[in-house]
Amino acid sequence: MPSTFQPVRGMRDLIGEEAKAFTNIITTARKTADLYGFREVITPHVEPLELLSAKSGEEIRQRMFIFKDLGERQVALRPEFTASVARLVTTVLKNEPKPLRLFSVGTVYRYDEPQKGRYREFWQSNFELMGSNKPEADAEIVLLTNSMVASLGLQGFAFKVGHIGVIRGVLSQEGMDEKTQNAVFQRMDKKEYGEALKLVESEKCRAMLKGLLEIKGKDWKETVEQIKSHVGGYEKAQIAAENLFEILNLITQSPDITVTVDPAFARGLEYYTGMIFEIYIPELEIALGGGGRYDRLIEVFGGEPTPAVGCAHGIDRVAIALQEQKATLNGKNGKSVAVIPITDALKSEALKIAQQLRAAGISVEFEVMGRKMAKALEDADKRKEDYAVIVGERELKESAVMLKDLTNRQQCIVPLAQLVEKIKS
Ligand code: AMP
Repeated sequence: MPSTFQPVRGMRDLIGEEAKAFTNIITTARKTADLYGFREVITPHVEPLELLSAKSGEEIRQRMFIFKDLGERQVALRPEFTASVARLVTTVLKNEPKPLRLFSVGTVYRYDEPQKGRYREFWQSNFELMGSNKPEADAEIVLLTNSMVASLGLQGFAFKVGHIGVIRGVLSQEGMDEKTQNAVFQRMDKKEYGEALKLVESEKCRAMLKGLLEIKGKDWKETVEQIKSHVGGYEKAQIAAENLFEILNLITQSPDITVTVDPAFARGLEYYTGMIFEIYIPELEIALGGGGRYDRLIEVFGGEPTPAVGCAHGIDRVAIALQEQKATLNGKNGKSVAVIPITDALKSEALKIAQQLRAAGISVEFEVMGRKMAKALEDADKRKEDYAVIVGERELKESAVMLKDLTNRQQCIVPLAQLVEKIKS
């Protein structure tokens, strides 16, 4: 009976080229971390439930994979990295000088409804900069995201930027409690603006919020100016708008960055206190990554008050974006060949040649099935190898092999000393 086993709903196997595309993205994320001075930390996939639910926000809390281990501990699969990093910062890294720049990459788990670009197990690269409340720290997080996405070869990407402090400033001054404010942001995150406005009791406050949500400008400076004048008289909201201006002013010094400001923009995680952002490409409606400032989170985990800003990139979505734009990184890395000995007696010689090619960085599938030449060539064709290196007695006597180009079917005898060069050319 054929096996009918499937992965768990919302989880996937990544095979061959797809796995390679993920590895390439992870390598680029790691290089970006190096370039911006971020240290990698590897934390467990399973954490105490109490830690993960401390401040993840209601939305994520309801979508965690929670279970009891055999020692009756309430644990859960991590739905994001920030709680684990906060645990480190408040314990083992407590006495390290600030700022701390920490990078993580791996799978996270959320019980989301599966669809294109939305899975229950997915990969994130995560960057946290802890210890600075300055706009230059916010700018660094946005700029590293820009660098990473650009070095992946993606094109036409743009940032959507907002500031939680603007709306919070207005709602707090109008006397709304934090819980209701969070509910307002949750509706806004789902673009249910009508529902969000219904939660605002006071007429004046509702009109104020409605006006704010409707602001749209051609460029970021114009939009921030409109926001500033709209929230005149709301002190905290004005400070927030000024902070947004400073951050954008720093970011846009970089010539290759595109930003739009959206005052109606909210993100699902409740812990944000300042600037928030997401990055998109024109071909996809879903964000490739996002983040923001969360100055009170470390206190929630029992640490010293520590301002912080961070972001996470959805690697599964970046892979989809690369596919949509057919960027080259998604394809093969260099040439690949099949090495096939004509007879059993030539196996060890053929393997020696395979090892020399691998040492030169050429990907080799060595014939391990003992098949006849025609069968092995047919297989190499199916696997889309670029070349077959056929090791025969006659050619070997001359220190040469037969090289068959599998794209144009042409073959020629190549001296071993020139084989690498010929394949790479
Ligand atoms: P968040 O941790 O919610 O700030 O999300 C950061 C990024 O992770 C998003 O911009 C997405 O690219 C990615 N992401 C979030 N949820 C999912 C999901 N269910 N499946 C795949 N990627 C996701």
